[in-house]
Amino acid sequence: MPSCLSRDTWIGTNRTMRIIFIGPPGAGKGTQAEKIVAGYKLAHLSTGDMLRAAVAAKTEIGLLADKYMLSGQFVPDDLIIGIISERLSLPDCREGFLLDGFPRTIQQASALDVMLRENDSRLDVVLELRVPDAELSRRLVGRGRADDNPDVVKKRLSVYAEQTTPLLEYYGKQGLLETIDGLGEVNEVFERVKIILDKFI
Ligand code: AMP
Repeated sequence: MPSCLSRDTWIGTNRTMRIIFIGPPGAGKGTQAEKIVAGYKLAHLSTGDMLRAAVAAKTEIGLLADKYMLSGQFVPDDLIIGIISERLSLPDCREGFLLDGFPRTIQQASALDVMLRENDSRLDVVLELRVPDAELSRRLVGRGRADDNPDVVKKRLSVYAEQTTPLLEYYGKQGLLETIDGLGEVNEVFERVKIILDKFI
């Protein structure tokens, strides 16, 4: 570990880690993702953040994505696969990455498999952050984001259940899935995350 980096902020690894982070809206994935990328020095690939930036900048992708996001639906697979494929080809991803919010459908997961295979690369682990539905609704309605009103929240939770939960079986069968209890204080949850990720250092 380079001496300029403090052990407190960087857990440190000489090994490239490639992680997928899955969890329903409101599970605290964004907060944990920030801690993971800082602690393990990984590129943070959040498709939600990328799309919100595109919406704010009124790019072509942003204008297209906006209506799906506001109604709690997923944006089309080919659009999001294109964004991620471009992002994964940037040099910082060679040092390891955390995919946050991608893949969210089986089609996206298959496309990711192809991208990784083409680069002779593989995933280390798929982390699932699990929080009961009642707690998710409570947290989301208090958050105040444009897509956090009660009807949209309901829609986002049902889309997650229908389209994203099949990924748990998909990655479970490959022996990649690790489930983390997302209830509790932020640091308490991060300790659980670290127990899993430290195995890959
Ligand atoms: P998030 O911040 O990850 O909750 O994403 C916010 C919204 O962006 C989602 O409700 C979707 O409309 C859209 N989105 C983000 N990632 C994806 C993805 N992988 N596939 C489809 N839509 C996505």
